[in-house]
Amino acid sequence: MERRPSRDPVTLAGYPVHSAQEALALAAPMLDRRPVLVASDFDGTLSHLVMDPWGAQVLPLARQALRALAVTPDTSVALISGRTANDLVGRVRIGGATYLGNHGVERARLPRRSRAVSLRIEMAPLPPHFMALAEAIAVAVEEAIPESWLVVERKLPAVAFHYRAAPDIAIAGMRVAAVVDATDVDRQMVRFPGRRALELRPPGAPAKGESMRHLLDEHRPAAAFMLGDDRYDARAFEVLRAAREAGEVDGLAIAVASHPEVLPDVAPHADIVLAGPSDVAAFLSGLARHLGGHARPSPASLDSGRSSADDAHSP
Ligand SMILES: [Mg+2]
Repeated sequence: MERRPSRDPVTLAGYPVHSAQEALALAAPMLDRRPVLVASDFDGTLSHLVMDPWGAQVLPLARQALRALAVTPDTSVALISGRTANDLVGRVRIGGATYLGNHGVERARLPRRSRAVSLRIEMAPLPPHFMALAEAIAVAVEEAIPESWLVVERKLPAVAFHYRAAPDIAIAGMRVAAVVDATDVDRQMVRFPGRRALELRPPGAPAKGESMRHLLDEHRPAAAFMLGDDRYDARAFEVLRAAREAGEVDGLAIAVASHPEVLPDVAPHADIVLAGPSDVAAFLSGLARHLGGHARPSPASLDSGRSSADDAHSP
């Protein structure tokens, strides 16, 4: 690819992996353009993956960089996650950012200097009976599988079952799927099987591709960067790259190799691959320095939402 640096990179699962500095060198020609959009996934991108999904934490350097970007003129920051918007904002607490929760079913913006708990969420219109169906499936799975390794993430009208801590992942996945199939017998919910989780979403629910389209329409950026580690993020990469092909925007789709096993589904849709969240943080930090003219974020912006640390959603 002509935009890639010339030095031979290391590879992971057969894909070249680049450093944050190399990604910044690729981004550099775009950094004179305004407005700029910086969009990112959370899990495995801004946070290291952990066994307990409620234990995930944003890397401090990534938070600092995103806070600086969020107060940089003509620069917008958006977080796009499968988590609910409330969960997401409680974990990252970046004032002035847009939050697309549940892949984009929930949209919210946290004004600068406001508390995370004050987030007002707009829900995508979906048939109301999916709320009850998702809750009924959640209850059925909880009752059938009382083991402690099961984590049920309610984000109605969607629900996700995590079993990454199960002693036997394959058996856990089969048990969860069996209860889901027995409850949603006519398969109204769309199944999204993950590596160690099963997510159920209503048909037609916005996903990250639609979320990226929405962000491009809303912010009309001249340059856009999207970072993510999973198949869901690859849909956003596709939308960004298609917009770039159409001459609508410049920018980069940046994959993060947090899961080498899914890299073959993600890397082909990206322009460059970073090794992990630490490299994402270094990239964002460099971006913030370039775009902010080396300005440090103001104390007020760094403090935005800090007082709401105890408001973070937790199970
Ligand atoms: Mg992720």
